[in-house]
Amino acid sequence: MTFDLSRLHAPGVRSMKALVLPTLVVALCASDGPATLSAQERPPLPPSLAPFVTVDAPVVALTHVRLVDGTGAPARDDQTVVLRGTRIEAVGPSGSTPVPRGARVLDLSGHTVIPGLVSLHEHTYFGGVARMTQMTVSGPLLYLAMGVTTAMTAGSQFPYHELNLKRAVEAGATPGPRFHVTGPYLNGGPPRASSSRIVNTPEEVRRVVAYWAGEGATWFKLQGQVTRDVVGAAIEEAHARGLRVTGHLCSVTFTEAAGLGIDALQHGFITDSDHVPGKQPDVCPSGNMRVQADVDVGSPAVQEGIRRIVAGGAAVVSTLGVYETFVPGRARLDPRAMEMLDPDVRREVEANHAGLAESGFAVPGRLLAKMMAWERAFVRAGGLLGAGSDPWGTGFLPGFGNLRNYELLVEAGFTPEEAVQVLTLNGARILGEEGRSGSIEPGKVADLVVVRGDPVRAPAQIYEIVTVFRDGLGYDSEKLREAAKGRVGVS
Ligand SMILES: [Zn+2]
Repeated sequence: MTFDLSRLHAPGVRSMKALVLPTLVVALCASDGPATLSAQERPPLPPSLAPFVTVDAPVVALTHVRLVDGTGAPARDDQTVVLRGTRIEAVGPSGSTPVPRGARVLDLSGHTVIPGLVSLHEHTYFGGVARMTQMTVSGPLLYLAMGVTTAMTAGSQFPYHELNLKRAVEAGATPGPRFHVTGPYLNGGPPRASSSRIVNTPEEVRRVVAYWAGEGATWFKLQGQVTRDVVGAAIEEAHARGLRVTGHLCSVTFTEAAGLGIDALQHGFITDSDHVPGKQPDVCPSGNMRVQADVDVGSPAVQEGIRRIVAGGAAVVSTLGVYETFVPGRARLDPRAMEMLDPDVRREVEANHAGLAESGFAVPGRLLAKMMAWERAFVRAGGLLGAGSDPWGTGFLPGFGNLRNYELLVEAGFTPEEAVQVLTLNGARILGEEGRSGSIEPGKVADLVVVRGDPVRAPAQIYEIVTVFRDGLGYDSEKLREAAKGRVGVS
């Protein structure tokens, strides 16, 4: 987010502690398969993951599920999904899909299965409150608990902290999603106190990209004051290494960045400065993110802009949910999410929410409606739309926010199956991983979310997550949430 709510408060850093692991210990589900069987397929479960894992078997069959496979195809009833090791082995009607002998069978009648979410605007810090903190413990737990199995961050406050967190998850030190890490925020403009790397020349940005590529960043996040030559150089330098660039832009317009070959534009229409009257090249106009409220999305200029973005091959990352939290009177603070906040931080979040109309950061409801219409038009024009949460102190939390996007995409007019596709397979396409993740198809990685009920008929049921499979291991969503309770804003 660069609605800089921190201007409302004195920003600071309260928690830079080393990784503190949740100490919750819960007995393994007694019905789990024998450990000796699972040992044939994968190494023994690390002790730090074991309390959260309820399904760990070499072969697992999810039977009688309603399946939304992530491709946009209509939901199919009474399906069986067979997982072997870390992969999906078979998918088909329960009547004709054999369950392998010795498989751990989960009869999931009354449940829906969707792919693990591939989310593209995630953060490992919690901002927008007085003290910005790293979500060292809570972030990975909440993302995974709410079905996010792959998370691309979009700007790091502490890039080394984030890279180490990614590696800790990979090493099994804590449950969490597969992270793709951006380096530090890259912004232009005059010298100022900021966690961003200020870059004003192509030479400088090439050096910065090369450095963070060497350190393990796989994406780069540009901010709203960069110039076109810096954007172009960043893209060239990243692409030369097989890495990618995204941006929350302003000084450079969507069509300019698409022309330069940017991989993904964050936030959609609200930040598209192409349509700000009097826009000067390389300058962020002060009216950006406000004047769009009065721009006609159906106008030839906006539609032509969309065509040029699509022609340039730039994807767009929808973040409707976080902007909804800036629309006075619209968003509700979700009590299930609020429980995850440290009590003092929760009071701050509640105050931010209550004071939104007077804050100077309010987004008019009609602008949110235009963002929805623009995203529909972008997809109709052949554009690739993914989504991300962008956690923030207005009450928008990891995982919960990603699921709120599902409801809002449906409200925008996408079918539930298309909305799932935006959250899953499209995300994998943007990451260039669609060959291995993003949908429930044989051969793909066994990342799936088991939801109680039917979020196709009742979108609000998307939050009823029971089990999240990552790499074939089934994690108990409630146990993950329990371990994150009260921690957001502290650790
Ligand atoms: Zn952000």
